[in-house]
Amino acid sequence: MNITVIGTGYVGLVTGAVLADLGHQVTCLDIDKPKIDKLKQGISPIYEPGLDELINTNLQKRSLSFTINKQEAFSTAEVIFIAVGTPQSDQGAADLSYVEQAVKDIASVINHDVIIVMKSTVPIGTGDWVEQTLHLHKRSNSKFEVVSNPEFLREGFALHDSYNGDRIVIGAQQEYAGDTIQSLFNGLKVPVIRTNRRSAEMIKYASNAFLAVKISYINEIANLCEKLDVNVLEVADGMGADRRIGRSFLNPGIGYGGSCFPKDTEAIAYLGREYGAPLSIVESTIKANHRQRELFLQKVVDHFGGDLQGKRIGMLGLAFKPNTDDLREAPSLYLIEQLKKQGATVKAFDPVVKHLEECVDTLDYATQEVDAILLVTEWAEFIDLEVENIKIFDGRYVLQQDKEYSVL
Ligand code: NAD
Repeated sequence: MNITVIGTGYVGLVTGAVLADLGHQVTCLDIDKPKIDKLKQGISPIYEPGLDELINTNLQKRSLSFTINKQEAFSTAEVIFIAVGTPQSDQGAADLSYVEQAVKDIASVINHDVIIVMKSTVPIGTGDWVEQTLHLHKRSNSKFEVVSNPEFLREGFALHDSYNGDRIVIGAQQEYAGDTIQSLFNGLKVPVIRTNRRSAEMIKYASNAFLAVKISYINEIANLCEKLDVNVLEVADGMGADRRIGRSFLNPGIGYGGSCFPKDTEAIAYLGREYGAPLSIVESTIKANHRQRELFLQKVVDHFGGDLQGKRIGMLGLAFKPNTDDLREAPSLYLIEQLKKQGATVKAFDPVVKHLEECVDTLDYATQEVDAILLVTEWAEFIDLEVENIKIFDGRYVLQQDKEYSVL
């Protein structure tokens, strides 16, 4: 089918490349010209393993193209995916201004029937609102059907997850529209769950919030384990062996970051408050997550007797998790800001993120002539870290236990 994807970020770009790979004719539209110029040359603006190759293969096959021209993007589209950002706004609600602009763009150009698919994570009821907005702004008698198809990919494993995901959720009000969208993914061996639109929207938020709860839960258990001289990793393994619980997302550390969990937990908590059905567990999860990075910082401060003035800190990892260059809501940013505010200097090494002023070129340089090392992102290359006589604060519980709190 002829498909247009609006937004070439982590989700839109992967969606476009995978759909092209599945045999569709895909046009990706963005308002960011430098990004589109790069993509036209086959250069991915984001770090995502395997994505460059997939983009290049499909550019050569001419099944994938990039543009900033709405007319060009929409003129023959049978299906339009919206994959623009939905950042956090005041009081935690999702900011739908990018979605609104994309919807108005569609209405102002399209004069044929089209199915709009919402890939962006949006609050429950957004599909209804998009439908109304399209009808309000449309310039012809075109029929618009809005389908919810939330995205569950993990950055760093985006292609793997697209081809081997646990489920594809399709929420449609009209069966034909749901069938059409389901057929787009026929080449994938991923189970499909069909629901109505509002359920699909809720499945995304409820899933992300649940995963965040799991992370904050094990983090608080880890804090207690530390006081009681218990190895939390053994506890996580023991808990995770129970199939009702599962081992994934029981990795303790300095808390979640990234472009999804922080804003999605805030957005669903906001909905809970707004509709008088408070999500007290999610609210507590958000607080516990903030506290986790503060506790980590406090350990560093305490180690230096409460004074970080002049201390040289080597930071390992900047991205909010390994295998991505995404810095959005990364704990590293909070730590750098606080460490510098208290008089410390920071040398940071990340295998992919290179543009911050604290960045240094090599792991060796980040770990030499420093007073302490903070392991902030669990990139594979840090796990065998060998340094002598330097205190390491392992914010991800990945180093061997005996190194974790090695004393000067
Ligand atoms: P992103 O910020 O990386 O990319 C958004 C892109 O949309 C940008 O390139 C921006 O220039 C473009 N854009 C904005 N308005 C536009 C318009 N009117 N027309 C054309 N392009 C426009 O965002 P992302 O991380 O890909 O996330 C997109 C959505 O997917 C969000 O709702 C997010 O919550 C959700 N999501 C993200 C992930 C993830 O891992 N990043 C996973 C699942 C769901």
